[in-house]
Order: sequence, then structure tokens, then C-alpha cells
Amino acid sequence: MSLKMAIPNKGRLNERAVELLQKSGLEINGGQDRRLYASVENKDFEIMFLRAQDIPRFIHSGTVDLGITGLDQVMEADVKLDRLLNLEFGFCRLSVAVPESASYSKVEEMPEGLRVATSFPQLTKKFFKGQGKKVDIVQITGAAEVAPHIGVSDLIVDLVSSGSTLKTNRLREMEVIMDSQAVIVANVESNRRKNSEISGLVSSIQSVLLAEKKKYLMADIPVERLKDVETMFPGMAGPTVMSLAGRDDMVAIHVVIDKSQVYDAVNSLKSMGAKGILTLPIDRLVP
Ligand code: AMP
Repeated sequence: MSLKMAIPNKGRLNERAVELLQKSGLEINGGQDRRLYASVENKDFEIMFLRAQDIPRFIHSGTVDLGITGLDQVMEADVKLDRLLNLEFGFCRLSVAVPESASYSKVEEMPEGLRVATSFPQLTKKFFKGQGKKVDIVQITGAAEVAPHIGVSDLIVDLVSSGSTLKTNRLREMEVIMDSQAVIVANVESNRRKNSEISGLVSSIQSVLLAEKKKYLMADIPVERLKDVETMFPGMAGPTVMSLAGRDDMVAIHVVIDKSQVYDAVNSLKSMGAKGILTLPIDRLVP
């Protein structure tokens, strides 16, 4: 039975979602054009390109088995889904933002009954209810930041990443409602028969995320520096050590290191007399 996966059809999450699937070894046929549907080479998978905000409900209803979307959309849809993996992109936060000229700087200082423009009515309602503050919610579908300027609302609840859109529109971020990033979600309970396919896909993507943070390093080092090299990479199981044909003064080492270690590692190896130092990208890493 084929596995149906939904990914955002456009916008901020689309490109990286397609890239992650491709890097995990799925060859998506025509994944870059604006189609609704794509198949996967040699796999019984179907990829549906849907709006990020519709994905949680399509998974909940069983139309698709799993999907990639923003955690903000999952929470807004308010349906029970299983969050299987944080994808470490699409970082943003859902925030309350008010005009720079507003006389209040905390929710509790807000007058009652202000109008809040948002495309996240459920989360907004819940948040202000939790704060014991009465507001009127004005539901919009986008560009919330202009709402206070055109008199549609007094403040907004919207997604923020760098904060530059708020600044341009002379708005001040007053409170963060939730932090968000892209996630993989599924309905595990109603999908028992496909669970092994789902977990296979999730662990493939996980291995890509892990590999992207690492580099494969190879070098030929003087035998007498082997102990120093082993202490240089303490977090690892230790470097793989191989002999070099015709040499008893040098050995080859191979080791997986964090990207952030590469700069120092190469310089240290060089100063130890290492030769033929190479660093290579890793496609997948399954610990
Ligand atoms: P889009 O399809 O471009 O509307 O993207 C929607 C999703 O992108 C949101 O639900 C968020 O999860 C994510 N996102 C990340 N950063 C931002 C941002 N600064 N503004 C809006 N959406 C963002």
C-alpha cells in the first residue's frame, strides 16, 4: 500500500522539504514544478503538494499518512497528531505585536476589547483567554502587519523570524506565544499498517540532518602522533587507523567530526606533521 506524504506546495517551507526528501534518497519525479502530486522513483510513495496550513487536517482525516509543515500550523489546526521529528528549519515564533506608539507594553496592561488581526485565530483566542484578557479577533489570511495601519485592528498576532517586517511596519513585538519550526507529523494510531514505512522515512531524514552537521576527515599522520590524534577527537569512538603501503613511519586516519571542529582540526593535524589532509561531506549518518 502506498505511503502518502504531504509537503508545502510553495512558500518558505517548500524548497527545503523537497531537498530533505531528495537527500534522504527519494527521487521525486518533477518535484520542483508546481504540481499537486508527484511519485517517487522505485518506491511506493506519493508526494502531495498542499498548503502548509491544510496539511495537519489532511493527515488527521487520513487523506495523507504524514507530512511536513510548520509546528504553528499543527497547533492552530488543533487536531491530535504525532510529532515525529523537528526538522531544524523554518524557525519562527508566533508573537503578539503592537504599534510602537501603543501605551501598553504587557498583555495585562492592555485595555479590554482591543481588536487583534491574525491568521491564527485558535491560538490567539487560547492565548488571550489564558491571560484573562478579552479581545475581538479579526481573522485575516495574510499581511497582518498592515492591519493596524489601515484601521482593521489595534494589534496583531503573527509569525516573526528576524523581526524586520515588524520594524518596517513600526510594530513592536510584545509577547511570544509559541516557538515554531518545520516538523514531520503523522497520525500513528490510525496508521498502524504503515508504521514501519513511516519510521523508515523519518530515520532517513534524521540521518540527513545529522550528516549535514558532520564532515569526514582523512589524513596521513606520523605514527608517534597517533596518541595525540586520539585525544584530539574525544567524543568519537576514535579514529579508524590504517597502515600505509610501504610506510612504517606514517598511518592513515579517518574520522567523523563536527563541522565546527574542521578549522581547528585541520590546523592541528598540519602542525603535527600530517599530510594529505582531506575533508569530505557526508550524505547520511546512522549512528
Ligand atoms: P508560507 O507557505 O510561506 O506561508 O509558510 C508558512 C510557514 O512557514 C509558517 O506556517 C511557518 O511555519 C513558516 N515560517 C517560517 N518563518 C516564517 C516567517 N517569518 N513568517 C511566516 N512564516 C514563517
